[in-house]
Amino acid sequence: MSSLPRATVHLANIVANWRTLAALNPKTTTSAVVKANAYGLGAAQVAPALAKAGCDTFFVAYPEEGAVVREAIGPGPAIFVLNGPSHSTVELFRTHKLIAVLSSEAHVALWAETGGLPCALHFDTGMNRLGLPKSLLETASDALHALEPVMVMSHLACADEPGHTMNETQRAAFDAIAAAFPSVPASLANSAGCYLGRDYGYQLTRPGIALYGGSIPPARIKLAPAVTLEAEILSVFQAKAGETVGYGALFTAPSDMTLATVGLGYADGVLRSASNCFIGWLDGVPCPVAGRVSMDLTTIDVSKAQRSAKAGARVEFLGAHAKLEDQAARANTLGYELLTGLGPRVERLYP
Ligand SMILES: *Cc1c(COP(=O)(O)O)cnc(C)c1O
Repeated sequence: MSSLPRATVHLANIVANWRTLAALNPKTTTSAVVKANAYGLGAAQVAPALAKAGCDTFFVAYPEEGAVVREAIGPGPAIFVLNGPSHSTVELFRTHKLIAVLSSEAHVALWAETGGLPCALHFDTGMNRLGLPKSLLETASDALHALEPVMVMSHLACADEPGHTMNETQRAAFDAIAAAFPSVPASLANSAGCYLGRDYGYQLTRPGIALYGGSIPPARIKLAPAVTLEAEILSVFQAKAGETVGYGALFTAPSDMTLATVGLGYADGVLRSASNCFIGWLDGVPCPVAGRVSMDLTTIDVSKAQRSAKAGARVEFLGAHAKLEDQAARANTLGYELLTGLGPRVERLYP
């Protein structure tokens, strides 16, 4: 075994989370969003595990990502490309049998000109990020129908705030769009949208982060951790009360304490904003980060775990103890950013 930081990816838990999401909307197709290398955990491993469990629809952001997923899962399942096509990527769509999600008038024009390749239409219902304006349904209805879209979709801006009025506004706007394509499957919900009730399910849901153990679901919904991130202790030492730790002398020992320095830093995805606030778990004992996270190293207070604190022992920074969204909140971020930020140096294991 190397002494590199290690991310053990729990494919069975990702499959279990997908089934948990599917059970929330039993009458719809539950797809899997595997963009950004399956949120950092490895699309070439995650997608086949889900396909084997019966998932037949996948979403990526780029056609290059789609090619990787196609190679991993074979010819059957549908792969949608959220960021759409360009002149230079049309061939990738053709070769790897990818479905273009069209979200601009330039996309629509390109696909009309290309002819015959499958597409979905993404309408903006208020997020103002990507999406065709609803007004096109009046001004270009024939052109849109001529593309014979296999899906119409939109994206929720505030699904993680169940009480936000935007959710209902977007749903109502999307109802009108779905009604304009009565025989085409419609899709609105991301992970948090799956928690808003079956009115938001339409024919297909698009969970991403929840598959990877993130998001903050209602208490009745339990998600399993998708990854355990661990790193080795390199050195254990004593600090006297009043001594400081690390760059900027940002932490001052309030009393004599035992510290351990671990081989994990911001190059591995432990954000600098985790300085003085992340927690590492050593043999189930929480050990707070002391001082600044540096590129390759982080120091933790192991005073309460002295017996386990030895060079070579592994400290958990994400996993069953270090829960993804709790750890993210400590660093003032979200699970999305922690997972997609896992650095290339972190060894991914798929036991
Ligand atoms: C990323 C993305 C999703 C998945 O969102 P999660 O919040 O990770 O569930 C769904 N739909 C679109 C359009 C996306 O960009």
